[in-house]
Amino acid sequence: MKGTVYIVGAGPGARDLLTLRAADLLARADIVFHDALIARDTLALATRAQMVAVGKRCGRQSTAQRFINKRLVDAATKFDVIVRLKGGDPLLFGRAQEEIDALEAARVAYEVVPGVTAALAAAAELRTSLTQRGRVRSFALATPRVGNGEEASRWIEGFRGADAGAIYMGLSEAPAIADALIAAGRAASTPVAIVVDASLPSARTHYTTLAGLAVCAERDIAGPALLPVGPQFRARATRSENDEAATASSGSDEAASLALAQAG
Ligand code: SAH
Repeated sequence: MKGTVYIVGAGPGARDLLTLRAADLLARADIVFHDALIARDTLALATRAQMVAVGKRCGRQSTAQRFINKRLVDAATKFDVIVRLKGGDPLLFGRAQEEIDALEAARVAYEVVPGVTAALAAAAELRTSLTQRGRVRSFALATPRVGNGEEASRWIEGFRGADAGAIYMGLSEAPAIADALIAAGRAASTPVAIVVDASLPSARTHYTTLAGLAVCAERDIAGPALLPVGPQFRARATRSENDEAATASSGSDEAASLALAQAG
């Protein structure tokens, strides 16, 4: 095999949250296979590469994934530097294992370059520590999303044992997520944030609770959204409620007072 495949994390969106290693590889790349959510100015760093969008369409994912695996292996016979660019960190909810397995089976050299995952960008957006001494000592990263033909996810089992966590790809299933967490023993008043477009100029945050999540998620929310859940997200929700009352403006920290009031 001629080339090396680099499975690279593109970070949460902001171009300057890309690692230097990722930027260097993009500049050297002969060909880049990238997901749908990657920001255009990140892609622009690949000045000499052939660009191939391999975003998957819902409902045809497993065929598409096999096709991507094959294209990566084929590219390694023709090019020196092949970049497989994935949003956030490539090893979290990115189906990287299937690509790694295919590359190993075909004896293609590969490396993984980590990226800033959405949960960390969302925490920065919320200016709230994911862990807190004496209160939050474990933090789950979970998704209820499953692929076609996969058995239902047991995400709630993992979440049950953690003090707090973040849910990826959860917005469209927000009511079911809230019900599942409450059924698993979380208080209906548990704070939840909805963080959209974390790290981008268009970033928005909404604060609610498990009880208010279904209503809050019905609002017109465009863009990728992460749902951090846990007691530490209350302090800022309360603060933004006060801010709102003080300024009577509807900034980006909206919906907190409504949802908290609904939750009692
Ligand atoms: N590998 C990625 C996750 C891929 S799954 C990572 O490590 O971040 C895609 C999901 O990630 C989206 O549905 C959303 O829940 C979350 N996500 C990705 N980018 C985001 C962003 N900028 N802001 C909020 N959520 C984001």
